[in-house]
Amino acid sequence: MAVQQNKVSKSRRNNRRAHDALVAANPNECTNCGELKRPHHVCAACGHYDDKEVVALTEEIDLEDDAA
Ligand SMILES: [Zn+2]
Repeated sequence: MAVQQNKVSKSRRNNRRAHDALVAANPNECTNCGELKRPHHVCAACGHYDDKEVVALTEEIDLEDDAA
């Protein structure tokens, strides 16, 4: 097992972690609904990609209607 030779001070540790923050992916605006979406991904809000509907969104299902 590797054993460190010197204690890493809080300052040195925190300075190292100063560059560890995650950066949000650059979002694109959906050309159909204007919602922000991930580039090269289907819009989660309307299911469109490149002005075409590729994922049909289901309407809310009323459970009481289905049971009858
Ligand atoms: Zn959209």
